[in-house]
Amino acid sequence: MTQMATLDVRGLRVGFSTPGGLVVAVEDMSLSVSRGEVLAIIGESGSGKTVTAMAIARLIASPPARYLGGSVRLGGDEILTLDERAMEQVRGRRIATIFQNPRASLDPSFTVQAQLTETLRRHDPTLDRAGAEAVAVEALREVGFPDADRVMASYPHQLSGGMCQRIALAMALACKPEVLIADEPTTALDVGVQARILLLLLRRSRDTGLPVILITHDIGVVAAMASRVLVMYGGHMQEEAPVGDLMDGPLHPYTRALIAAIPDPDAPPGERSFIDGEPPDLFDPPPGCRFAPRCPLAEPRCHTDLPAWRSVAAGRSVRCHLA
Ligand code: SF4
Repeated sequence: MTQMATLDVRGLRVGFSTPGGLVVAVEDMSLSVSRGEVLAIIGESGSGKTVTAMAIARLIASPPARYLGGSVRLGGDEILTLDERAMEQVRGRRIATIFQNPRASLDPSFTVQAQLTETLRRHDPTLDRAGAEAVAVEALREVGFPDADRVMASYPHQLSGGMCQRIALAMALACKPEVLIADEPTTALDVGVQARILLLLLRRSRDTGLPVILITHDIGVVAAMASRVLVMYGGHMQEEAPVGDLMDGPLHPYTRALIAAIPDPDAPPGERSFIDGEPPDLFDPPPGCRFAPRCPLAEPRCHTDLPAWRSVAAGRSVRCHLA
């Protein structure tokens, strides 16, 4: 029997009203993530990956954002049509999010203890203060703070960026969400701290089955963490595959270019591969394939006909005329 996806997004289309007109940032986006999976969404800035994540959690203000179509089902429940009050019950408790800037998710004027216990009690009103504190201490220990009591008594400004991100992760995980969306959770951190946080995330997903959507521009992180990968470019899905298949045999020229651009520490200076050109202007996107202006394999039809998103093998889909 096929396992039902915990989160299932179909045909999501999101735009923004601007003085220059409507900009469609994400078109025909479909993804699913099930227990025990880490789905990585990769792409350059402006590819639509963060808008997708924010739209799933309904974290973009509407207006100016406009949900133009599609469906987001969490545990079988449609959440795209929920009103804001109902959505407040979903965020944190059912969908947890962590973002690039950990300090932005913590209030500088309250101790970690006040913030963690408040969040826990908001999501579980049956918890009394002592019970919430016990859960908070345990959550901090699970993200690698042996001195959890000292951390509980601290204000965010007394802690490093890496510590704040681990606290944000503890806060997200303590509410036992059904899905975690992590949007570039380590980009702003030192390399050593990055590895520690990503390992924590991976371990929690493996130990508890927590489905994770990991947004990143770092394909090295994807190779180490993800079970499946979705590649985005210009607001469109371009390729989806199990991570091993994608790394060993990418089908889309953009995916190949991303993999070729992974820095090789042994390569002589100046030999790093870059993707020439700029991502498309979504005010005026190319009429055919969005990657055509930068694609080394582009044919005349690529500049006029949008390739269809099609399945090419079990678990593999691609949007390219030549794939
Ligand atoms: Fe390149 Fe054409 Fe494929 Fe687009 S459809 S990725 S332009 S070959």
